Amino acid sequence: MSLKIGKISGIEIKLNYSWFFVFLFIAWSLSNNYLPTQYPDKTSNFYYTIGIASALSLYISIILHELAHSFVAKNRGIDINNITLHFFGGVAQINEESSDPKTEAYMALAGPLTSFIVSGFFLLLNSFIGPNAPDTVEALLVYSGYANLGLALFNMIPAFPMDGGRVYRAIIWNRNGNLIKATRSASTASNIISLLFMGFGFFNLFSSGSFDGLWLIFIGLFINSSSKVGLSQTIISEALGEMNVNDIMTKNVKTVEPDVSIQRLIDEWFSVYKHQGYPVTDEDRLLGIITNEDVRKVDQSKRTVSTVGDVMKKRDELVTIEPDAKASDALMKMSMNDVGRLLVVENNILIGIITRGDLIKTIQMRTQFEPS
Ligand SMILES: [Zn+2]
Repeated sequence: MSLKIGKISGIEIKLNYSWFFVFLFIAWSLSNNYLPTQYPDKTSNFYYTIGIASALSLYISIILHELAHSFVAKNRGIDINNITLHFFGGVAQINEESSDPKTEAYMALAGPLTSFIVSGFFLLLNSFIGPNAPDTVEALLVYSGYANLGLALFNMIPAFPMDGGRVYRAIIWNRNGNLIKATRSASTASNIISLLFMGFGFFNLFSSGSFDGLWLIFIGLFINSSSKVGLSQTIISEALGEMNVNDIMTKNVKTVEPDVSIQRLIDEWFSVYKHQGYPVTDEDRLLGIITNEDVRKVDQSKRTVSTVGDVMKKRDELVTIEPDAKASDALMKMSMNDVGRLLVVENNILIGIITRGDLIKTIQMRTQFEPS
């Protein structure tokens, strides 16, 4: 769920709805905690104006950081979909893995480097004009400077898939030439780092009772789960490589015609073959699908009169995929729609079926000789 806010040289920028709450929370906590400590004895008007302006500046800084990643990626021929801002910052949707360690390292470094430069710009500007400028200007410059410095440092934590972790992975990848092995090693480092964050978080929470510890625990959990996701994504996309749905799907799918009665379907399909469901076709044209669950819902007495066409799930309710789609996209489509199989359709003609099991078997086959 996100809102498009603009486009910069072909890269769409989107806001996840969770962002609005976090934006308000950041503006609120700047106005009530940070600013009153840094600039005591100001009006609440001052705190709220600068609080909101600072929160905006933080998010513009995040967009700049993500744009830097995206520009380098584009420059090196990697597809960028969009940049989405959500509660933990920004994510540039990069569709594929880098093709070589250098690309990966440049791409990863671009973000923190940009944040460092922007930070330096604001802090230098402040040291020149800050002393004579109104407090509002000074407060905003100082905050923007430190926010960018924070972004640079936070993202350089060597935990995959954060920027620092990507640089770490690129270095190992460059050394051993094996992306999966490099990702595993980066992922192990991330686990250690996430445990350190959580450990310090709990220590902090119990020793001082300060809620700052919760943030550390939260960051630890975030690093831990995203490094696992990053690792499995890498393994899957490496294992499936350039394979298409066509390479993996089962052709010659057993189908049924819409005018067959439910009783006949039970006797001649479900009792004979061991599939959970059958695509319904009329001369190869896909009309729908019928599963054993659909059949169970039909009253015993009506099974001779009801037909497959009456009971089936219709074509427009089905999730399908084209034969030349990437195999990894099929897996993604399955998990996004929470289904275990996709019908493979070309020009509305059913040409095969691909299941989660098929994909997993392929991944296992292709990774079993991978050194761990
Ligand atoms: Zn980054």
